[in-house]
Amino acid sequence: MTSLLNPSRPPFFCPGCSHERVVRSLDKCFQHLGLSGNQIAIVTDIGCSGLFDTFFNTHALHGLHGRALTYATGLKLACPGLTVVVIMGDGGLGIGGAHVLSSCRRNLDLSLLILNNFNYGMTGGQCSATTPAEASTASGFLGQLEAPLDICAVADAAGATWIDRISADDAALAERIGHALTHNGFSLMDIMGICPGRFSKRNRQPKKLIAALSERFEKRGTPERHSSREEYGEAYRKRCEQAQPVRPMRPISCTSAPAEPATLRILFLGSAGQRISTAAEILCLAAMHGGLYATQKNDYPITVLRGHSISEVIISPFPIGFTGIKSPDIILALSEEGVERRKDTIGSAAPSSLILQVSEIVIPDTKARLIRVDCTALQAAKNQRALALLAMLTTTQLTVNAELLRRALEHKFKDDQLEEALALVERARSSAG
Ligand code: SF4
Repeated sequence: MTSLLNPSRPPFFCPGCSHERVVRSLDKCFQHLGLSGNQIAIVTDIGCSGLFDTFFNTHALHGLHGRALTYATGLKLACPGLTVVVIMGDGGLGIGGAHVLSSCRRNLDLSLLILNNFNYGMTGGQCSATTPAEASTASGFLGQLEAPLDICAVADAAGATWIDRISADDAALAERIGHALTHNGFSLMDIMGICPGRFSKRNRQPKKLIAALSERFEKRGTPERHSSREEYGEAYRKRCEQAQPVRPMRPISCTSAPAEPATLRILFLGSAGQRISTAAEILCLAAMHGGLYATQKNDYPITVLRGHSISEVIISPFPIGFTGIKSPDIILALSEEGVERRKDTIGSAAPSSLILQVSEIVIPDTKARLIRVDCTALQAAKNQRALALLAMLTTTQLTVNAELLRRALEHKFKDDQLEEALALVERARSSAG
């Protein structure tokens, strides 16, 4: 195979920069593996190492600082046949550390080459996540206050299946990169190198520093792990094949349009457990069966079975741009907890507004027209009251009529649940006279 280096853009770094050795070793490795440019994607991070993709005639992706692994993940999942190599500096490692952990845990077949030169070279030699405490950087003493990251130890703890640490000067660099690239899973290489442009200016003997670090890591027993675990992409595709197909959405057929469609804003004020959002959804479904636009906006705390539950529904013959409601046409007051949240709305409601109020709750004084509903007489349990009030609305000026409500219920429920809901609607409508 011939070189994949881009003849119109030869590798260009400060004299003596380790990055150049990595570029050439990577090219050698591609050749040795017999890969063509079309079979490779190089995804780069920000920094001097971010230039890598421009030096090769391969697919390339260059994005935000620290995020290279996220792009590479999407790329590899979409194109599993590609050999995806991610190039990142120790700056990107610090900034995108969480993505490194996720990649270790996930074990998608990507190769991450960390070009670790212990500082942010491109921006002037500031301390990075891997700067040793004894090093001097443009950040003054800051690099000495934080413990340097041993990324191999971290990757090991996160479950990476291929971890390697090597000096950029090592004669075996191309060969070791090749091993990482052919590993079926996530491989991480900590490639320690020298940044003569910045780091060496403040640290006279960087090679000695790398040797001392290597020794320190070895003493600590930092893992260079080569193990196997199911590759994520293969496992993912297998699971997808086995998974039940997603049930197609039931189409809504518009059969009975209301006589005089108008835009209506309806506010449901209730509590958790009262099936407020279900009733609001049924109203939307009914409107859609009548060929109207409908929007639903829910407001409830994170808690389950506790706290307020409010839904805002707009139904209209016109597309709805804003889904919030300032001045409702209709309010369904179902619990004091819900009413309390919107007491100002009730207090300022216009005389033309209609409030349907469960008779046992208290609401603020209002000029709106009031209808009190005795839900006990209707035999409507707490979680049926929203639907009961909705059914009563179909006897008033609501553009959603009884037929549309029935169709919405048939869309939403089946069997006993449907029977129960239809019976409740019948009782509520009869009581409304
Ligand atoms: S600043 Fe450092 S890392 Fe960047 S090209 Fe120069 S020597 Fe290499």
